[in-house]
Amino acid sequence: MEDIEIIGVNVKDVRFPTSLHADGSDAMHTDPDYSCAYVTIRTNKNIEGYGLTFTLGRGTDIVVFACKSMSKLVVGAKVQDIFHNFAAFWRKLTSESQLRWLGPEKGVTHLATAAIVNALWDLWARIEKKPVWKLLVDMTPEQLVSTIDFRYITDALTPQEALSLLKNSTASEKAKREENLLCNGLPAYTTQVGWLGYTDSHLQDLCKEYLRLGFTAFKAKVGRDLSDDLRRCGLIRKVIGPNNRLMLDANQIWDVQDQAVNWVKKISAECGPITWIEEPTSPDDVLGHATIAKQLRPYGVGVATGEMCANRVMFKQLLQAKAIDFCQIDSARIGGVNEILAVYLMARKFNVPVCPHAGGVGLCEMVQHLQMWDYVCLSGTTENRLIEYVDQQHEHFECPTVIQNASYMPPSMPGYSTKMKDECLANFIYPNGKEWQQMFQKGIFPAHTD
Ligand SMILES: [Mg+2]
Repeated sequence: MEDIEIIGVNVKDVRFPTSLHADGSDAMHTDPDYSCAYVTIRTNKNIEGYGLTFTLGRGTDIVVFACKSMSKLVVGAKVQDIFHNFAAFWRKLTSESQLRWLGPEKGVTHLATAAIVNALWDLWARIEKKPVWKLLVDMTPEQLVSTIDFRYITDALTPQEALSLLKNSTASEKAKREENLLCNGLPAYTTQVGWLGYTDSHLQDLCKEYLRLGFTAFKAKVGRDLSDDLRRCGLIRKVIGPNNRLMLDANQIWDVQDQAVNWVKKISAECGPITWIEEPTSPDDVLGHATIAKQLRPYGVGVATGEMCANRVMFKQLLQAKAIDFCQIDSARIGGVNEILAVYLMARKFNVPVCPHAGGVGLCEMVQHLQMWDYVCLSGTTENRLIEYVDQQHEHFECPTVIQNASYMPPSMPGYSTKMKDECLANFIYPNGKEWQQMFQKGIFPAHTD
């Protein structure tokens, strides 16, 4: 590792035309074209790192530009210097004295941070010839804690507390869990059955299909129309039966009291039990989430959020305010693995289970590594812990997720499972990829104009 130096960062705008079939449609995002800003970190040796952040189409070019601006902080660095004091390097990225004005630690610049930091972790794991989950599992508590920037969170979690949480398990307990992980993987739930743009019959067919595949937890998108939601959730409940889990996701569409609380109570009464309501309101409204959670707990409905939570500070407040019953980290939104480790540790301290957000582009591929580390080294349990699964866009990756018996199986190849196939890039780079050019010619999408 001593001689490896970063000599360049390439960034690409990659988009998939998912809006054509309403895949990914929800109450707020009615026509997403699942996309990503895709980062390749080049070194002076024959090894590269690949990372990405997820976007919905328009605006990906802005994130690409932010990645390019930030890459000036990375090029020329020796990887050894980065990984030996990763928290300091992470702070260098997020606290650059002029760029930070655009955030700080939120929005486009933080998406760019995630893409670059994810590529750095992929590079590190490739150098160590391990998948990221195993790289994390094999790190000492001290090494792990050394990657985290604790600024702004020490009132909730100190480095010493983090160390003691990580030292809770013995080596033999961890070894046993790792063995169990390799045999059985970690449980998943599906969101495939509930996109808002799907017809009732498509929805029912998908429920039957996922039941057949062994899934026991299903999530439906809600929030546009109550009677429509009652009908759709009723159909899902009818197919999955009374004992399987049903979760709801409103993607931030409601106000707190009149809409979120009352709406969910009605669905719960007719189609319950409901395990959680996800993103009931603005992702920034910590106290609003706390109000909703307090009022829905008597009905057995938990509150979940996190996929658009900006950073560790917001997660800290959600936990301190007892605003969430399920913590949903996102591998491409907050500043990459380093900051997500901080969130896992805070969630552990506050006894809130982490159920990662996934789907999109590459999110399933990445979050599985983090949840696997959590299971082996931190939480030590799968109870109330499920990883979201959506069966889309996996074919574009060299090492796609493997699901068996409705469980994520641990990746064995080195890296963060983030490397895209060359063929995918040739087809879907926007706007010059082959597929996009053909779709412009056929008039399926308007020709790109900048
Ligand atoms: Mg969601």
